[in-house]
Amino acid sequence: MKFGGTSVGSAQRMKNVVKIISDGQRKIVVLSAMSGTTNSLLEIADYLYKKNPDGANDLINALELKYFREIDELYDTKEYKAKALESVKQHFDFIRSLTRKLFTLFEEKAIVSQGELLSTMMFHNYLLEKGVNAVLLPALEFMRINKNAEPDTLYIKENLSRLLEEQPDADIYVTQGFICLNAYGEVDNLTRGGSDYSASLIGAAVQADEIQIWTDIDGMHNNDPRVVEKTSPVSMLSFDEAAELAYFGAKILHPTCILPAKLAKIPVRLLNTMEPQAPGTLISNETERHKIKAVAAKDNIIAIKIKSGRMLLAYGFLRRVFEIFESYQTSIDMICTSEVGISMTIDNDRHLGEILDELKKIGTVTVDKNMVIVCVVGDLEWDNIGFESRVIDAVKDIPVRMISYGGSNYNISLLIKAEDKQRTLQALSNHLFN
Ligand code: ADP
Ligand code: ASP
Ligand code: MG
Repeated sequence: MKFGGTSVGSAQRMKNVVKIISDGQRKIVVLSAMSGTTNSLLEIADYLYKKNPDGANDLINALELKYFREIDELYDTKEYKAKALESVKQHFDFIRSLTRKLFTLFEEKAIVSQGELLSTMMFHNYLLEKGVNAVLLPALEFMRINKNAEPDTLYIKENLSRLLEEQPDADIYVTQGFICLNAYGEVDNLTRGGSDYSASLIGAAVQADEIQIWTDIDGMHNNDPRVVEKTSPVSMLSFDEAAELAYFGAKILHPTCILPAKLAKIPVRLLNTMEPQAPGTLISNETERHKIKAVAAKDNIIAIKIKSGRMLLAYGFLRRVFEIFESYQTSIDMICTSEVGISMTIDNDRHLGEILDELKKIGTVTVDKNMVIVCVVGDLEWDNIGFESRVIDAVKDIPVRMISYGGSNYNISLLIKAEDKQRTLQALSNHLFN
């Protein structure tokens, strides 16, 4: 069971989580940092990169005060208040020690890891105070990524099993989401929102019956509720549908968190901490057929078009284009081809200049920045008729730069301008669901 930032965002919310997990079943509880903490820690790091330790210290003091207040509210006994207070002080002293050193990515990762270390320390102590037989499993002793920043699943499984075997009798195991060690043994993380990924890696490693992602909304909605009016929860999704939605922008799930669950064939349930009785969304091998399920959008997309007079009949042209992206470790999201050219999208502009320089050696290149991929997901097998036309009809008044369909049985993707995002998503909701 993974609880996100809002779900553990205050002492009161943590107490609420204890009610949800106290059902007598043995479980591993994965926690995010309290909401706002990771952002604050990154801001502290930003001040330190800018060589402004005073700015950093102001933020550190304010954040520490917030934790003092939460501690005071969380525990009933003097003993646990004192214990948690002491631990909070140690974490903040550690953060302060990093303000006096040369600041690099290494120190930044160490600072950012403090959020999950703090929330789990507080929560574990609260369980102990309540007399629950709970054990803290330090994520840095089993969660690890390799040189390609991919999870080292064998290492995770072996070390997590060892830790569980060392303490076999606990009812509840608490651990940190998000944080891990990297291939060099340094503190690292699974990128923003990565606690979901931790939970599915852990669920897969222990062959859990189910992986539950508890958050602040009643499951995966059929469109982004922050952008669109009148969205509603989707009751069932297949692993593939959920993975497309997560990858193409549905913030409720980390982009890669579905894969470990799918490989291990473990259902994932999305549930609402504020409304625990709501059915939420079940993600499994099964799904409702012949239905468009949901729409998601991925921002900050760059479209690149390369035209070549000699592409016609020129085998090897696509390979040359793709090799350029590969050599700059930039992955392509969407592709459309024609007789004379290809359009592709990327979401990472780190090597854009170099990629364009290389592409210009083999064709004429145009770039459109600030685009959005809108992804419509559902049972879109090609022999189900009528679905493509409904999607296209919904966007009939909107300029569409690219359309991609047929890459999988689950999605149609459209590339539009960022300024058209809201009305595109709303039009799709109105047309497909409402
Ligand atoms: P947590 O802190 O629990 O990990 P997140 O903020 O990462 O929670 O994810 C939950 C949020 O995702 C919701 O509050 C909602 O605003 C946003 N969201 C975006 N798209 C969707 C969607 N399709 N369905 C549900 N929530 C979505
Ligand atoms: N605390 C981390 C973040 O804010 C991880 C997470 O919440 O999933 O990105
Ligand atoms: Mg999240």
